[in-house]
Amino acid sequence: MVDTLTPVLTKNWGQDRAWTLPAYEAQGGYKALEKALSMAPDDLITAVKESGLRGRGGAGFPTGMKWSFIPQDNPKPKYLVVNADESEPGTCKDIPLMMASPHTLVEGVIISSFAIRANKAFIYIRGEVLHVIRRVQAAVAEAYAAGHLGTDIHGSGYDLDIVVHAGAGAYICGEETALLEGLEGRRGQPRLRPPFPAVAGLYASPTVINNVESIASVPSIVANGPEWFSSMGTEKSKGFGIFSLSGHVNRPGQYEAPLGITLRELIDLAGGIREGHQLKFWTPGGSSTPLLTDEHLDLPLDFESMGAAGTMLGTRALQLFDETTCVVRAVLRWTEFYKHESCGKCTPCREGTWWLVQTLAALEQGKGRESDLDLLLDQCENILGRSFCALGDGATSPISSSVKFFRDEYLAHLTHGGCPFDAAASTAFS
Ligand code: NAD
Ligand code: SF4
Repeated sequence: MVDTLTPVLTKNWGQDRAWTLPAYEAQGGYKALEKALSMAPDDLITAVKESGLRGRGGAGFPTGMKWSFIPQDNPKPKYLVVNADESEPGTCKDIPLMMASPHTLVEGVIISSFAIRANKAFIYIRGEVLHVIRRVQAAVAEAYAAGHLGTDIHGSGYDLDIVVHAGAGAYICGEETALLEGLEGRRGQPRLRPPFPAVAGLYASPTVINNVESIASVPSIVANGPEWFSSMGTEKSKGFGIFSLSGHVNRPGQYEAPLGITLRELIDLAGGIREGHQLKFWTPGGSSTPLLTDEHLDLPLDFESMGAAGTMLGTRALQLFDETTCVVRAVLRWTEFYKHESCGKCTPCREGTWWLVQTLAALEQGKGRESDLDLLLDQCENILGRSFCALGDGATSPISSSVKFFRDEYLAHLTHGGCPFDAAASTAFS
């Protein structure tokens, strides 16, 4: 683990066998659970609300508020579902968290389930990462054996079972309602919202769906108090988060820091952009968030500042590209990904992502016309806001933002009759 400014979630990552129960308990693990079980569930919800924790899966919805939407007068069972289907290109925080410290997640699941009065919780992990699934299963088994899970947990009268579920490798199953479809045994395609899962989710019962990092943040909030958490970050984006840096940076990896840190500061922590090169463009939260450039290095990485800059904080997946990267080619690769992952339910995304790839590929190969750039933007407009779920909207983000900042580079492909980047100098996407 490299430098980290708020070592909470990443505290033990470098320690020997940090993923085992004895190692976690030696660091004070499961003390927050003891405290939580002595509290009233509503007081836990209030504490999480007061902390200002917002969803760490990308959208930033207030976590405590989501919990308070669970109707307690509804006689149906309540469920907690952890969205561990991390798949957004560039996003690599939940998987290392589950590998290095699965008990932080398991403790968070128990406390959060107690708060919303759920007796069954599911951890839905993307199917490709078998080693992570096994690690979380082992942690759950250790927690059962130690009495942290099961019937009458630590004499509190509270019962909880956790099921670790393996997805089948579709990006769309990270969309919360498609995930529920998958969990119920059906093809993963989004459901109409509303009703939101808090009202009618898994098996039509009230369900909280939270990201891994959101749930893993809960034990530290319970242990240290909401003021401790809200003292970090910015006015409306409280606390800390894991920022994943990848691409043309000297020390890629996960950096835990308060929300509101700038990319310039993170690049310093990560040893700078590779020698002799300059940053050209970057994604704040994976490829579904509009691109930014070196003009935006000093913007605070928080929900509000990113929104004001026309993008989103998203999953804090900072993919950095230097001047050797052809932006058109990078965008084409991402668009091919969205075309492949489109679930096919709605026409704008199913047909539109196919057309986007055709138009972009022609431009990238220098076979298009200048008017194809307008056609490309028109195709984006016909997808954005007209798709059934966020995948379609996300597919347009890298395209429209790259045309905004790098229109000349698109045109250069046409005048050059192909990619103007010297193949030998370009290390990207070869
Ligand atoms: P959203 O804003 O529609 O919803 C966010 C959460 O708040 C959901 O859990 C939703 O149920 C809840 N919610 C919103 N309004 C509500 C209401 N009125 N009542 C009750 N609950 C309500 O966002 P989304 O479509 O769920 O997710 C999009 C985000 O996912 C994007 O920001 C993107 O960054 C992120 N994303 C993450 C990954 C990943 O791998 N982690 C992959 C793709 C996309
Ligand atoms: Fe499926 Fe794409 Fe429509 Fe979402 S936007 S429902 S992924 S076809």
